[in-house]
Amino acid sequence: MNVIVTGAAGRMGKTNIKTAAEDKETQIIGAVETKGNPVIGTDAGLMAGMSPLGIAVVDDIGAVSGKADVIIDFTVAASLSAHLEYAVRNKTAVVIGTTGLGDKEFAMIDDAALKIPVIWAPNFSIGVNLIAKLTRIAAEMLNDGFDAEIVEMHHRMKKDAPSGTAIKLLNVVKDVYRTEDIVYGREGIAGERPPRQVGVMALRGGDVVGDHTVIFAGIGERVEISHKVSTRETFARGALRAAKYIYNKKPGRYTIEEVLGI
Ligand code: NAD
Repeated sequence: MNVIVTGAAGRMGKTNIKTAAEDKETQIIGAVETKGNPVIGTDAGLMAGMSPLGIAVVDDIGAVSGKADVIIDFTVAASLSAHLEYAVRNKTAVVIGTTGLGDKEFAMIDDAALKIPVIWAPNFSIGVNLIAKLTRIAAEMLNDGFDAEIVEMHHRMKKDAPSGTAIKLLNVVKDVYRTEDIVYGREGIAGERPPRQVGVMALRGGDVVGDHTVIFAGIGERVEISHKVSTRETFARGALRAAKYIYNKKPGRYTIEEVLGI
């Protein structure tokens, strides 16, 4: 499988390069960063803290030579359209891990999925996708008498809030509780908590890779479903697994649940 890694110098980009380079079935043929980034022209392997790969980081995905089977894209929302256009033009599958996407970006993904295989997931770890399922079971069983709150914590450099994963967990609770009453933090005389409200808190600090907890608080007892990531390789391995799952498939939008078989 021939892979292009975009956002190559980012926290996830470097981890994606390392994980793909260590995989026997995968060949990195391109590493892409933004124009003016000081890593342009340097060896992608050296940049990712490994031995040289013989691939120079480029500032334009169109400059990658060779035919890629899949693009692994963990960048920013603004870069999505260029990467999808390239993928559609070259019949390349795309694994997207970027969070903070809006309706416009999801519409672009759906459009591209008519022509190429695409997967977007806010979290490629197995564990988080398991807790999404556990959250649904808990919400269905506990429901009425239990107040649901979601707390996430990430490193100080994270740009979007709440995390894409917190939104995914929120959507599960919203769906089961049939509610649109969501509060993002509370301050001042916030008043009593109405039933079926869902609170979401985003904490930021240090180098926390990604913690999520869904709390179901009832009278006299509380259930907490937690997941903590200690290394970005967890996401990179999941993204690579997703790449292998989709790259030979017909066009369409695939889900992380399909990849993981849950
Ligand atoms: P980061 O800021 O460290 O890296 C992003 C990189 O993308 C930067 O180096 C930036 O220069 C580069 N970039 C921006 N525009 C580009 C373009 N047009 N072409 C090429 N490169 C471009 O951020 P990060 O921590 O690596 O996270 C990246 C994204 O992935 C965020 O949205 C984050 O929330 C998300 N993320 C998702 C998962 C998941 O499992 N889905 C896991 C971790 C992070």
